Amino acid sequence: MAGILAGLVVGCKSNPFVPEDSNMKPSGEKVKLLSVDGEEIEVDKAFLKPVPDLPAVSNSVARVGIANKSFVMVIDLSRCKNLKKCQSACDYMHHVHPGQNWIKIDPMQDADHTAKYWQPTTCMHCDEPPCVKVCPVDATFKRQDGIVLIDSDRCIGCRFCMAACPYSTRVFNWGDPEVPKEIAGKPYSCETSMPQKKGTVGKCDFCPDMSRHGELPHCVSACPNGTFFFGDMNEDSVSNGSETFRFSELIKDKAGYRLMEDLGTKPRVYYLPPVNRNFPFEVGLENEKQKS
Ligand code: SF4
Ligand code: SF4
Repeated sequence: MAGILAGLVVGCKSNPFVPEDSNMKPSGEKVKLLSVDGEEIEVDKAFLKPVPDLPAVSNSVARVGIANKSFVMVIDLSRCKNLKKCQSACDYMHHVHPGQNWIKIDPMQDADHTAKYWQPTTCMHCDEPPCVKVCPVDATFKRQDGIVLIDSDRCIGCRFCMAACPYSTRVFNWGDPEVPKEIAGKPYSCETSMPQKKGTVGKCDFCPDMSRHGELPHCVSACPNGTFFFGDMNEDSVSNGSETFRFSELIKDKAGYRLMEDLGTKPRVYYLPPVNRNFPFEVGLENEKQKS
């Protein structure tokens, strides 16, 4: 109702209750509203005009980020079975173009004689992000809470950021992403990274729209093995939805590490080593989605 009222107040300057279409007939059903003068008025329901579905926060607010937060992710490699539920959830919730996954899960083996393991990779949300430094139009930026995002309305598709990212986490939208009509018509939101546009770059965004509501990113909630932990370094707490740990203790106790530490990018994604696994390394489990 507030949205409808806002539409009436903002969208119409003279008499907001005169229908634009003279053929429009009143329904007879009245709705009570507060006028711009603060008076309670009654309007026929047929004459109400909904405002467009705007993002929850403006892009200028989204660029600033959430105060007093310092987001961090921990990925426990000892739990990953390559079920790809994280990837499916991310693709589905962000309408990621088929094949352009923002989360990748790769088989890893550090040496011939060592064990294989699965490694999910997201954007590292680097504290010293090379991608931000090379963007010529300030389209990719780091917020006060540490999250690195992209403003597709500014992106000119030069792909300097893709070349600069040492983790290869960015993807280029060569074509128009396949998004439902209702999403395609919405204004771009830096916090949902939707709708993606042809000729721009996309990547994992740490689901900042979820964090704003105190909820976990989609990949974290989707993993049945609790592989992903997300939280706030200021609160020294990370959770996978069912278990919560002190971030500093978890990293210390389980010998957490970051990828390519020597580059000085200071990633916000930490890994726990793939030790003490109670399941074998298997290929193909992602195809048994219904059974897992
Ligand atoms: S992982 Fe790549 S895209 Fe993400 S913040 Fe770091 S440099 Fe930028
Ligand atoms: S592709 Fe877009 S986000 Fe990346 S550097 Fe160029 S303008 Fe910036």
